[in-house]
Order: sequence, then structure tokens, then C-alpha cells
Amino acid sequence: MTTTNRPYRIGIDVGGTKIAGVLIDAAGTVLDTSMVPARAGSDNLINDVVRMAKTLCATPVPVGIGTPGQVDNVNGVVRAIANLNITELALGPEVTARLGVPTHVENDVNAAALGAKTVDAGDVGAHDTVVFLNFGTGLAAGVVCAGKLERGYRGALGEIGHVPVDPNRFLCPCGQRGCLETIASGGAVARLWPCDGPSMPNLLAKASQGDVAATRILNMVTYGIGDAVQLVTQAYDPRVLILGGGMCKTGRPFLELVTRELQRRQEGCHFLSTIDIPSRLRLASTDQPLGAIGAALALDE
Ligand SMILES: [Zn+2]
Repeated sequence: MTTTNRPYRIGIDVGGTKIAGVLIDAAGTVLDTSMVPARAGSDNLINDVVRMAKTLCATPVPVGIGTPGQVDNVNGVVRAIANLNITELALGPEVTARLGVPTHVENDVNAAALGAKTVDAGDVGAHDTVVFLNFGTGLAAGVVCAGKLERGYRGALGEIGHVPVDPNRFLCPCGQRGCLETIASGGAVARLWPCDGPSMPNLLAKASQGDVAATRILNMVTYGIGDAVQLVTQAYDPRVLILGGGMCKTGRPFLELVTRELQRRQEGCHFLSTIDIPSRLRLASTDQPLGAIGAALALDE
């Protein structure tokens, strides 16, 4: 937890396959970017983050880091980054020791939510709530309320991917059955509709051509996405709900799919038509490193 008035800040987004970094100024403008492949192991991660920070800014400036796994944002400790084979790492303190700068470590979806709120939410009021829904390998939401991240008691706020919704559906790696993310995530679509290249655009194309198997899977996925959107909207009643993550690289057809599903649901439901979820939906930018921008902004949290 670090507050700083220094004009420049670095944000670094640690992903399962790559590490993206930005240098931003006090207004949040991106001045420079950097990207390297992610390497497994704690020492590699510390070295890669330190090297990237030095590359982005020759003088020491505060560094915000977003990572997957379980993040203790108070102490800068991250646990269980499965893709990088890291069980526990005091990432914040290690980077602070190497660079001599304040650091802040944030859950990657929370960081992306801050980035998306700044870049994509448009003209929202100071007290409005913005929800970012990440359809990546997994499914999770980040909630920004009156400009501040909501984390909850144990950092589990927004972890809707592991809400079980169907006892007859797929086993989830978390140990439960029928979790939302087993049908409503980029990882789920890749598993249910394997193909060369991105699965979601291919699934949409095949379903639109009348392919029976594609239509069946798309209906299941769409229903799960609709449930996820309804769940966060009715829990947090956000002014704006931003759809992000790898699946959203599908672009407008994805937004139209979600919009049609929500419109279909509200046709027969007075309650849903009054809260009008489709009007709140936005697509996250795919040309901006939202996770890295948000990681830098999280230094102010
Ligand atoms: Zn689960």
C-alpha cells in the first residue's frame, strides 16, 4: 500500500506466457511500453520485473505489479502462480530491495479492472461502480467502487468463476462440479471447441453456418456468460460493465452475442427489463495494456 505523488510510475502485468510493462505519467498517459516472455521460477520473475522496470525508466520510480494467483496486496506476497511454477514469493519486498522504490502487488484481474475503468468506462461519476468481467483462461470480476478497488475480507470478492451453477455439468479443477468458468471462460471454449487459432471466433462462425455441434456448444457457453453478467450486475449494480479477457478479442460479434442473450432474457421479465443490463455493457480495449496500466494505478490504492 503506497501513496506517492511522484509524476512517473511503472506498471507491470505478469501473465502466464508474457510480461507487459508500461511507464505512465501522473495523468495516466502511457509514455512507453515493454513486453517479454514470462519464464518459470521465482528468481526469473524477480529478474524480469527488475530488468523491465530499468528498461522503462532509467531513474527509480514506483512499480505496481499485477499477477495471477493469490495476492496479499498488503504485504506484496503472491502465492500459487501455477503457470510460472511459483508457490510463494514476496515479490513486492524483493523488487523494492533490488530497485529501492515503493512497490504494490495486485491481483491481475483487479489491476485490469482499474485499467479498464480508466481507459474504457467513459464518463462515469466519481461515486459510480464499474465492474470488469474477465473472460480469460478463467472467469473472475474486478469491482471498482467510487474509484477504489473492492477486495473483500480475504481477496475473494469477484471470484465468480467458482460459483457452481449446474450439478450435472463438468468437474472443475477447483474440486467442485459445474462452476461457471467451466462453460463461461476462454479456457472453457478452448476445451469445448478445440481448433487451430482462437476458438471463440471459429465457434461463432461455425454456429452461424448451421453446424449442429457448434450451435449446441455456443448455446451452452452463451448461457453461462449470461449468468455471469447477471450475477455481477445484480450483486453490484454497476453503472458500466466492461467485458474483457482473451475471449473479448473476438470483438463486436462477442458483444452482440452477450447483448442478444441479455435482451432475450429481459423480454419475458419485467424486473430484468427495468435494470436494462445491455445498455451497461462495453468491450474492453484490446489495443491497450489494461493490466499493466491498472497495476501502475493500483499504487494509489
Ligand atoms: Zn471451480
